[in-house]
Order: sequence, then C-alpha cells, then structure tokens
Amino acid sequence: MTTAQSEAGAAAARTVTDSLVASLTRGVVGSGKTACHCPFTGERLAELPEATEDEVAAAFDLARAAQPGWAARPARERAGIALRFHDLLLRRQTEVLDLIQLETGKSRLSAHEEVQSVAMAARYYGRTAPGLLRPRRHLGAIPLLTQVREARRPHGVVGQISPWNYPLELSAGDVLPALLAGNAVVHKPDTETALTALWARRLLIECGLPAEVWTVVLGAGPVVGPLVVEHADYVTFTGSTRTGRTVAQRAAARLVGSSLELGGKNALLVLRDADLDRAAEGAVRACFSSAGQLCVSIERLLVDASVADAFLARFLARVEALRIGPELDYGVDVGSLSSAAQLATVVQHVEDARARGATVLAGGRPRPDLGPYFHEPTVLTDVAPPMRVCAEETFGPVVSVRRFATEDEAVTLANDTRFGLNASVWSRDARRARRIAARLRCGTVNINEGYAAAYGSVRAPMGGMGDSGLGRRHGAEGLLKFTEPQTVARQRLLPLAPSHGLDDRRYTALISRSLRAMKSLGLR
Ligand code: NAD
Repeated sequence: MTTAQSEAGAAAARTVTDSLVASLTRGVVGSGKTACHCPFTGERLAELPEATEDEVAAAFDLARAAQPGWAARPARERAGIALRFHDLLLRRQTEVLDLIQLETGKSRLSAHEEVQSVAMAARYYGRTAPGLLRPRRHLGAIPLLTQVREARRPHGVVGQISPWNYPLELSAGDVLPALLAGNAVVHKPDTETALTALWARRLLIECGLPAEVWTVVLGAGPVVGPLVVEHADYVTFTGSTRTGRTVAQRAAARLVGSSLELGGKNALLVLRDADLDRAAEGAVRACFSSAGQLCVSIERLLVDASVADAFLARFLARVEALRIGPELDYGVDVGSLSSAAQLATVVQHVEDARARGATVLAGGRPRPDLGPYFHEPTVLTDVAPPMRVCAEETFGPVVSVRRFATEDEAVTLANDTRFGLNASVWSRDARRARRIAARLRCGTVNINEGYAAAYGSVRAPMGGMGDSGLGRRHGAEGLLKFTEPQTVARQRLLPLAPSHGLDDRRYTALISRSLRAMKSLGLR
C-alpha cells in the first residue's frame, strides 16, 4: 500500500465509524447483511442491512401509510424543508465530501460538483414547487358556464433506483422533487454508495422530513430492484441502458409510469474558430471529471482537421499534467475508478482498440501502484468501428479523437450513436454553434463548456434521447413528472346538451354559432 492509500484507509476508519453507520442505518429495514467498500484501498467500509422480499414490501407499506399525511401538508411547508436542507448541506459539506470520496474513489473537486448541483436543485425546487403545483384555472368548454381547474396529484409512493457514480446528486437531487410533489419515496441506491444516500436522508430528516416518507432498501440490484418496481406507483431510474430497458418493461407491464436517465456516448466538437486553449481545458474536464464515470462526460472528441494538430498539442499537454491519486483533499484531478468491474471494462475497451489498430496518444494503462482500480487518463486515435470504444459507453477515463472536414461530417459523426444524452460544441461564433446544436440528437448541448453549463442549469430540463432515456430531471418537468394531472370541471346553469325546449337541430346550430364566435373573439 502506498502512503496515500494508507492515509485514505486511516481516513476511512476515522470517518466511517460504527456509531456513524448505526446512526445512518437507523430505521433502514433489512435482516440480511451486505457491505460497501472503499475503491482507494479495496477494503470494506461498512456492513449494511440487506432487505428481503417481505421487507421491501413492508417498506412500501410504511411509505404508503405516511404519504397521505405528507401530501396533505401545504406545498410551501414541504418546500421549506428543501430550503433548510440547502443551507445545512452547504454548512456540513465536509462530512459528505469525505463519504462521497471514500465510497466512489473520485477526486474531491468532482465530489463537490454533487454538493453544488444538489444545493441548486434544493433552492430551485424549494422556491418554485409551490407555484408549479398550484391548481391552474382554464377556460371551460362553455366560457363562464364551465369552470375548470387542473390540479396536480402525487403518484403515491415513488420507487427510485440509482447508481453509484453520483451518489449524492442521484439520491437527494432526485428524491427532493418527488417528495416536494407530495409523494413518499422508497429508494434503492447502489449498495456500494449507500452511506452517502443515507447521510443525505438523515440530513433531510434533521431538516424536518418525516422519516417514513423517504425509506431506503438495500440489496443486490437484480433482486431488490425488480421488487421496488413491483410495488411502486411511479418509477424513476438512473443507470445503464440495459437495466433501464428491463425496468421500463416491468413498469409498463403494470401500467405504471417511469422516467429513465441512462447512458451516453457523448461527443465534443471543436470547430475551426474555437478558442483552442479554452477548448482543450474544457475537454480535459469533460473527459476526466469523476474519472469519466459521469453520464454526461465526453468519450468522443471530433476536431476540425484544420486545427486538429494545434488542438491536440494543447489537449495532450494538459492530459499529461493531470494529477492522479487517492487523496482525500483538493489538489488531485483524477481519482480511482469505482470497482474492479469498471476497471475491467476500461481495460477491455483500451485493449480491444489497441488490438484493432488504434494509437494510444496518452495513458492507456491501469495504475495498481496508486490503488486497485486506478487507470490513467487515456487518449486514443485511429479509432473506427467495430472497436468497442466507438459504439459502447466506456464509462471511464478514455476518449477517442477523430478529425472532420466539414460541418455536415461533424454532425453526422456526432449523431452516429444510438445514445443521445449530451454534446458539447466549441466555437467563437455563438450562432454557428447554436445552429449545429439544433442538428444534434441529444437532450443537452453545451456551447463552450463540456457538460456543467447544461447540467448545472437546473431550471432547464436534462435527460436523454434514444437509448439515453425517457423523461427529464430538472426544470418544471423534473417536478411535474412526479404528479398526475387531474381536471375538475364544474358545469353551471346550463347542461352541455339540448335543454330549455331546444330540440337537437336548434341546439347544434346554436353550438356551431357559438364555436364560430369563440374563434372570432380569439379565445383559445
Ligand atoms: P446499473 O444499471 O448496473 O445499475 C443502476 C441501479 O440499478 C443500481 O442501483 C443497481 O443495483 C440497480 N439494478 C441492477 N439490476 C437491476 C434490475 N434488474 N432491476 C432493477 N434495478 C437493477 O448501472 P450502473 O453501472 O450502476 O451505473 C452506470 C450507468 O448509469 C452508466 O450507463 C451511466 O451512463 C448511467 N447514468 C446515467 C445518468 C443520467 O442522468 N442519464 C446519470 C448517472 C449514471
């Protein structure tokens, strides 16, 4: 073990104490045993309760019993809890930054991204949820005679399934809008990062959340995940496209709605008029934040051939300068991969590309000297199908570079994927970049940024097209998907049918005249 690893191990022992684990798992149902591990060392971090089939059902019963009382509270009161959470999260961020790093192996700066985006989501939904959920009046079928209100009703109990890569963002960030909409949530985080999710839950409880409205169940994904889908009134899933497809099928079979935030194979386009220094800097962040284990991170660089050499010189110099390691502090750029399985996929993709003729421009090797799952930030070129790096999501610190000659070719290459999550366009000409953005088939496009501008703009929706998912988080949609619209129409004075001695013929003539008049008056 290196000194840095030993220090990480000691920090893990200091941070994840028995009393912390006991406090975080209070109220978590599970008579079985499971565990989470620290990627910096590969050692066990904590033993955790694993839920049986009956215990998952009991968690839903508990949530279902608590939900009506929670939904009956004024929306403003629910939102107030989110705003308190915002303040407490920022004040106590050190606690959760340590947990995120110890559970995921990412660098502290990447961990802080989670604090930032959850704080932004808490503020946004805390401020806007009461207004977004307020009943809306509409013009009725016959103005004045028909009065209509559209209300938003919570689904009931939302089943939430989340992965390990952004354990604070994908637990608290997604639970908050579901709760603010009046639902209870039964949440299955990935066991390997459950402590972070449980920490966020405990903080929300400190802020006033009734414990039963956010219940956590832990266990193997293929066992506990389907049970969550089986009981939920709505399912929100973040994870791989493969699992997302089965989740959607199970939910559809029950006629239960679902939103799916899935994988990506995101492209970054460097146009010939880009500021190459800024583009190189931004590309490094976009490719290697969280060691590339970020759904919106960039795995394909498409560079205008006329500036490719100049761009690559700048990009590679910055990649070579990246600091890698297991430090539990700022100052390191790239942390560890999260597990042996992640490292295996990365190694397979790099070796497959190398064997089929790709050239390694930087990195290309695991770094067991730093920790069991470290891998160098890796840049490949001369890539072409059927190399796995061309079509499959690597979800690691690996990016491939291709050159293009025309704008049309750049768009064709960028869209040549079944995924459609994120893209990035670098150009000094905002109109040109927007024109290209409109031709890209993906849910978010960042101009002169890799991913954070769109992801961090929580007032606007974020999500994927194609194999990258269904539905959106963030924005009004990110809250309203957790509700069912209900239309309540009250008819006054006259029925919507012949009455007061009008026969069918005179009634339909009157209605036809009224419809023409309503259009002439500009009514919608
Ligand atoms: P995964 O699909 O293996 O697991 C995700 C979650 O599903 C985990 O909690 C897992 O335990 C659970 N699960 C596993 N099998 C299940 C089943 N049969 N039924 C129900 N649940 C099951 O994904 P992962 O490897 O943990 O996460 C990485 C993936 O997540 C990547 O593809 C990444 O792009 C994607 N992701 C997408 C977004 C987004 O917003 N689009 C965000 C983060 C991660």
